Amino acid sequence: MPWSGSSLTSIPGEPCLEPLARALRYGLMRVLWLGLIFQYMSAAENAHRFWNRMIATSDASYLLRFDDICPTMKWSTWEPIELILREHDIKPIMAVVPDNHDPELYLERANPNFWDRVRSWQAAGWTVGLHGFQHTYVTRHPGLYSHRKASEFAGLSPFAQREKLARALAILRSEGVHSSLWAAPGHSFDRTTVLILGELGVTSISDGFTISPYTDEQGTFWIPQQLSEKQMLSSPGRKPSEPKSKGVWTFCFHPNAWTDEDIVCFRREVGRYRSLIRSVGEVHALYFGRQMDWPDRIQIAKFEVRRQLRLLGFAYSVAKTPKVADGPNVANGVIEHGVAEHGVAEMEPVRIATRQEKDQ
Ligand SMILES: [Zn+2]
Repeated sequence: MPWSGSSLTSIPGEPCLEPLARALRYGLMRVLWLGLIFQYMSAAENAHRFWNRMIATSDASYLLRFDDICPTMKWSTWEPIELILREHDIKPIMAVVPDNHDPELYLERANPNFWDRVRSWQAAGWTVGLHGFQHTYVTRHPGLYSHRKASEFAGLSPFAQREKLARALAILRSEGVHSSLWAAPGHSFDRTTVLILGELGVTSISDGFTISPYTDEQGTFWIPQQLSEKQMLSSPGRKPSEPKSKGVWTFCFHPNAWTDEDIVCFRREVGRYRSLIRSVGEVHALYFGRQMDWPDRIQIAKFEVRRQLRLLGFAYSVAKTPKVADGPNVANGVIEHGVAEHGVAEMEPVRIATRQEKDQ
């Protein structure tokens, strides 16, 4: 009788071995599959490490971001800045307020061609950032990255945040302007804001303190924003910083407050930094998909320590200031009334007349 696989069971007096063989085969296959999966995972992990290391050893890059761009911004200051940017063919981030209601940004007569200007920036390859909706701070929430307890978004309900963001984007769309980059007013927003922004197609964020940009689990691309005027424009007794050796660094500027000396200094410093200045598109092409690593985490911790020290210093100076007569608490241009809504204490923004109301 010819031998067959089933003959294992046919030897009289011997124990039945077929179930044992099947279990062994099954176990072996599982081990092989698990091995393959682990191999794949470790290859992917190594690829990520290699990618991070390769980027980390490249030269530093800089991005320029200009905040508080709106029809009533200080155009007399802005025009020479734009000339410098165009001379150097720099493509900055223009953080546009879609429907400004902040009285601090009513600085000059409203430019009737404002949206034409925004479209011209977009056509030139500049990045239009979504700088909130109305630039009014309505909550006492610092959000993820701000040290000031004032926000247009952080602490509001998902419903309220979605409403504001959808209206802001609708204004841009109606003006033929596209924005997929979030640049929060006061750097204040929370996790809810990030989730809703992603749902609405705003998939990049200019904020945070990492050394280089990274992509989070949700697919949001975070471009760190660590520097301000202080590090580029000289102030009495202080020299502008030297360029860094690696990473991506965003300068966040508030041109409405610049003096003529600041503009002269900007012209000089931009010439010095020019070879390191990139556009958002260039940074996205190089860094999208990168994951946050340990040097990034250490950098975040450093910024957090400095932030806490600044807060302590501020609290100390407030404690030492003699008290004046009672009255409304005026901070950051907002009068606090302590209205509770959406589960957080909120502030009502200063009531201002719109330009149309003033004209009537
Ligand atoms: Zn702002």
